[in-house]
Amino acid sequence: MFPENNKILFLNPPHRLSISRRYRCSYYSPNSLLPPHDLLQLAACVRAWNHATVSVVDAIAEKYTEEQTWEVIRKFAPDIIISVTGLEFFGDDMECLERMRKIFPDIPCGIFGFYPTSFAEEVLRNSSVNFVLRCEPEMPLSDYIHAVQRGLPINTITGLAGRGDDGAIFVNGEQRFNELDELPFPDYTLVNLDHYDEALLGKRCAAILATRGCPFSCSYCAPTYGHWTSAKSPKRVVEEMKYLICSGAKSIRFLDDTFTCDRSWVLDVCKEIIRQNVVVPWSCLSRVDTVDQELLVQLRKAGCKRILVGIESYSPRVLEHLNKRITPDMINPQLALIRKAGIQAVGFFMVGGPFETEEDFQKTLDGALTAPLDLIIVGIMIPYAGTQFFEQHREELEFRLFPYKFEYKDSSVLRNAHKRYNRLYLRFYLRPSILCRHFFYLIRHPWYAISMLRGLLL
Ligand code: SF4
Repeated sequence: MFPENNKILFLNPPHRLSISRRYRCSYYSPNSLLPPHDLLQLAACVRAWNHATVSVVDAIAEKYTEEQTWEVIRKFAPDIIISVTGLEFFGDDMECLERMRKIFPDIPCGIFGFYPTSFAEEVLRNSSVNFVLRCEPEMPLSDYIHAVQRGLPINTITGLAGRGDDGAIFVNGEQRFNELDELPFPDYTLVNLDHYDEALLGKRCAAILATRGCPFSCSYCAPTYGHWTSAKSPKRVVEEMKYLICSGAKSIRFLDDTFTCDRSWVLDVCKEIIRQNVVVPWSCLSRVDTVDQELLVQLRKAGCKRILVGIESYSPRVLEHLNKRITPDMINPQLALIRKAGIQAVGFFMVGGPFETEEDFQKTLDGALTAPLDLIIVGIMIPYAGTQFFEQHREELEFRLFPYKFEYKDSSVLRNAHKRYNRLYLRFYLRPSILCRHFFYLIRHPWYAISMLRGLLL
C-alpha cells in the first residue's frame, strides 16, 4: 500500500537525441523541442485528484545521462514512476526503463503510449513494467493510486493493464474521457520553460492539447487516443492560454492532431481569443481540406503564426495508398491561402515507403519545390504496428516489440528512403529563396542556423 500523500515521479526518459516524446510519437528535430505535455497533464491530475506530491523529470530537456536521471529519482524517492514511451524510439525507451528497473526494483513503474496501449499484454509479459495506462492515462492512473492506497483490487480498473494478486496478467478495455474542461491546467513550474522551443518561433514554447482524437483515417497514423474526438470548450482553451502566458510562455503550440477539423469550434476559439485580447503567437496542425479563407483570416487575427500541414506526397498513387483523402492539385492553392492570410505554412512530408517509386518521389520533390511553403519537415514512411499501413505491408517486414526490431526484408527500401529524405531536405532548404526568407532570423540566432545545418547533414 502507498502512503496517503504518495510521491509520483513522471519521467521523460533520457536519450542521446533531443526527441519530443508524446503518446502517439517521438520525433527528433535538431532545432525544436516541445514540452512533455502528456506528463505535465498527468501530474496535474493526480495532484488535484489524489493529493499526490509530483515531480516531472524531463531528462531530454535537461540533457541528463541515465546516471544523472537515476540520481534525480533517488533524491525524490518516489512511490511510483510513470513514463511515456513514443513510437519511433520504443525499443530504446524500453531498454532504458529496464535499466532503471534494475536500479529501482522496488518502485512500481507504469507506462503509457500508443504501443503500450495496443500491445499491453506483450509489454507486461516481456518487460518488468508493473502496469500500463491504456489510451488516455489520467483516469486509470488516478483510479490505480486510489485503489492501491486503500488496498482495493486493481484488476477491475478501466483502462488499466497489469497483474492481479495471483500474478495473472489482465488487460482492461479503455474508456475515452469526455469532460476535458475538468482537467486541471498542466503545471509548467514543474519544468524549465527555457528549454522548449519551436523552430523559428522562439524559446519558452508551451503546449495545449485542446482536442483529443482525429476523425480521419490515414492508413499510417496512430492518432492521439483514437478516432473519436473530444474538445475543450473555447472558454477553457482561452483560460489555459492565459494561464500559460502567466507561467512565462512566449509562444504556444496546439498539439491537436487536426486542430481545424471542427470549423465552428475553431471559429469560436478564435472569437474568444480576440474578445479577451489574448496576445501570444501560436501554431497548430491542420490538413489542406480543413481550412478556407474566412477561417484563416480569423486564425491570423487570433494570433496564429504558423500552420503545420500534413501533405506527405504529391503523388496521387501514394496519397491514395495512405488513404490521405486529398489530391495533389488541392495542395498548393490551399497553402497559398494560408500564406495569403499572413500565416507561415509548414509542410510535413513522408518519403521512402515500400511502394513509393522513383517517379512518385520525383513528383513529391517537384511539388515541394514549387509549393508556397516556409519550412518542411520530412519523415520516412514507416509502417507502425497497429496501423492499417502495417497490415498492408506486414509480409515485407521483420517486426517484433521485444527486443525491438523493425526492418524491411529488402534492406534497399530503407536505404532508398534515407537517400530520398536527404534529397528532399537539401533540395528544399538550400535554395536562395528559402535562405533569404529566414535570413534575419538565422543572423539573429546563429546557433539555430548551425543546428539546422547539422540536421540537414545527418
Ligand atoms: S489527419 Fe493527421 S492525425 Fe488525422 S488520421 Fe490523418 S495523419 Fe493522423
